[in-house]
Amino acid sequence: MIPFNKAVYLPAAFEHVADVVKSSKIAGDGKYTKLCSEWMEKRFCAKKVLMTTSCTAALEMTAILLNIQPGDEVIMPSYTFVSTANAFVLHGAKCVFVDIRPDTMNIDEKLIEDAITEKTKAIVVVHYAGVSSEMETIMNISKKYNIPVVEDAAQGVMAAYKDKALGTIGDFGCYSFHETKNYTMGEGGALVINNEKYLERAEIIREKGTNRSKFYRGEIDKYTWVDIGSSFLPSEFNVSYLYGQLLMADEINNNRIESWKFYYENLKKYEDQGIIELPNVPLHCAHNAHMFWLKWKDVNQRSDFINYMREKKISCVFHYVPLHSSYGGNKYGRMDQDRYTTMESERLVRLPMFYALKKEELEYMLGVITEFIHML
Ligand SMILES: *Cc1c(COP(=O)(O)O)cnc(C)c1O
Repeated sequence: MIPFNKAVYLPAAFEHVADVVKSSKIAGDGKYTKLCSEWMEKRFCAKKVLMTTSCTAALEMTAILLNIQPGDEVIMPSYTFVSTANAFVLHGAKCVFVDIRPDTMNIDEKLIEDAITEKTKAIVVVHYAGVSSEMETIMNISKKYNIPVVEDAAQGVMAAYKDKALGTIGDFGCYSFHETKNYTMGEGGALVINNEKYLERAEIIREKGTNRSKFYRGEIDKYTWVDIGSSFLPSEFNVSYLYGQLLMADEINNNRIESWKFYYENLKKYEDQGIIELPNVPLHCAHNAHMFWLKWKDVNQRSDFINYMREKKISCVFHYVPLHSSYGGNKYGRMDQDRYTTMESERLVRLPMFYALKKEELEYMLGVITEFIHML
């Protein structure tokens, strides 16, 4: 069976995790947390990167930092993972779901302005498949209305928009290092702070509402409870597992891009014949091959394809059920226009994509896809 995803496996992880075991410094904010956040700050030119227990936790921190209150509204796409919404709904916000563009499956930047009301407290964009949302337009809207932007860059680590790393463009960026993402520590994430005014409070919220980070830097002589907060920091065990992957980030990225290109170049002719649709990567976006998706004619053709692939021992998956049509989304949000979200999400399927996917596997899959197309 060719699985849909395989977590990155690097022998270096044994060495780094063993180092943590031997040091007995296993709580958060130790050596590896420092190494990973500094690596990202340098590589992505980010002001501050705070490691978290998940991207969900990083999104929840942004909701606290933005003082989200009951009755506030937060703009986001409906085509996303639940955490994008839940982080804000937890604090009483209502989600205002905006339609997507079919070519990238990202929020349609042209529809954002119409969704803004007096209650809008944030615009949350999702960089689907590691392809950037149209950030220039979105940041201009943000400036015009003075509404902060949160980038859900869970899928966007090592991808860029006009040479800027995803996650470093809005006020905040949220990364995921879940097992299903390009770089992983099992469960984990990071919050990128790009707007300096949130920095001090972000450290406090992450440290259970205390000013412990300041204390460790010797800026104060005792630490106390100063604000609301929670435990958002990951154990050194998890972070040490990630470190080796960051050191090999270019190799991992290039390897994924090669697989992505193989799919794209070999399937392009079927797009030209009008049989399938493939992802569009705008010229100013450098993606990270987080996923390879394609679209069939409709939901039935997609089911037939997934079943055919399964018979041939290839695991393909689809997502997301648009949030606005779910029980939670209906209760906690609204959507005025759904021209593409439902229709396009029902046509989309993801092909296996992971680091070190073998050439033979790719060729085998291409053969099976071609067989399926010839049977249509
Ligand atoms: C994976 C993902 C998340 C959640 O990440 P966790 O680290 O598992 O919390 C959030 N948003 C998007 C778009 C994702 O793909």
